[in-house]
Amino acid sequence: MDIKNCRLLVTPTTYGKYDSRLKSKLKDQVGEVIYSTTGKPLTSVEVAHLLPGMDGYIAGLDTINSQALETADRLRVISRYGVGVDSVDLQACKDKNIIVTNTPGANTVSVAELSLGMILALARQLPVAMEATRRGQWPRLDGLSLVGKTIAIIGLGAIGKQLVRRLSGFDCHIVAYDPIPDHKYAQENQVQLLSMDEALPQADFVSLHVPLLPETRGLVNEAFITRMKKGSFLVNTSRGELLDEEVVFRALIDEHLSGAALDVFTKEPPGSDNPLLSLPQVIPTPHMGAHTDGAVNAMGWMSLEDCLAVLRGEEPLYRVI
Ligand code: NAD
Repeated sequence: MDIKNCRLLVTPTTYGKYDSRLKSKLKDQVGEVIYSTTGKPLTSVEVAHLLPGMDGYIAGLDTINSQALETADRLRVISRYGVGVDSVDLQACKDKNIIVTNTPGANTVSVAELSLGMILALARQLPVAMEATRRGQWPRLDGLSLVGKTIAIIGLGAIGKQLVRRLSGFDCHIVAYDPIPDHKYAQENQVQLLSMDEALPQADFVSLHVPLLPETRGLVNEAFITRMKKGSFLVNTSRGELLDEEVVFRALIDEHLSGAALDVFTKEPPGSDNPLLSLPQVIPTPHMGAHTDGAVNAMGWMSLEDCLAVLRGEEPLYRVI
């Protein structure tokens, strides 16, 4: 189907930031592309103002509720630039025969890379070393080599598996716990599947890769920490609510844990009064696991291909509804 007359609305602030071919391809393929210039997610009123006459919509984290969709007179597809579709009223889309797609897995590698970076930074006390060197000090800082150490991956899903792949060159022992164990994968990738009770006491590093669910909220509580090996490290790039932050803080103060690297917090931003931020053995980052050129490009291409596919009358690869 010829899509030369189609009009597109594109709102993600990072769209085409690292790969100019994305914008050129859209320009070549459709009649007109309108980019959002606000630099932030659009409100439903702003979306409603822009949607009349649009055939396709590559959407950032805009509020796409029924009010926003009221003015959609030709819209056939909303391609979410990201995984979450909680900002989109799916029922309202269904009622208007609008197909919704997303970009699953686009940031998986980026989160795994950050987790690996955090393990290495904890092992070598990189923030402490950097700070001391900047101050003109020259301390003798001993670190841990990963050779022969045990890394426990809690949640062996998409990100957990990418972390296994990246750790495979470090000559460490990888153990994992997942309630839905993938035995074939574990066997092929030298991962030892264990129960949580078996994994925690032997791990030098515990890296969390589980979704936030009612049963995982507060997963890292007193009992969890007590089962962790004395002197071990915790990495959380999943969700802040998985941790009881107070319990983790006490475990760090008591030196039961040697350090923690946290990309996510119960409250984001955590606020400078969060005691975890005062500890030099904590590496805090601003929920940036997915923020890389690779993830931005993957989201850009996946959303573009699916948006154009729907306009051409083809089945998109990552259809949500
Ligand atoms: P996934 O669904 O592919 O994998 C999650 C795994 O966790 C599954 O294998 C599941 O069986 C397992 N699991 C469920 N409950 C568990 C439990 N109680 N204990 C242990 N394992 C359990 O998800 P993914 O793509 O690997 O992402 C994992 C999480 O990473 C996401 O849910 C999200 O919270 C987080 N994330 C963070 C960022 C970031 O910017 N830091 C970006 C993307 C995703």
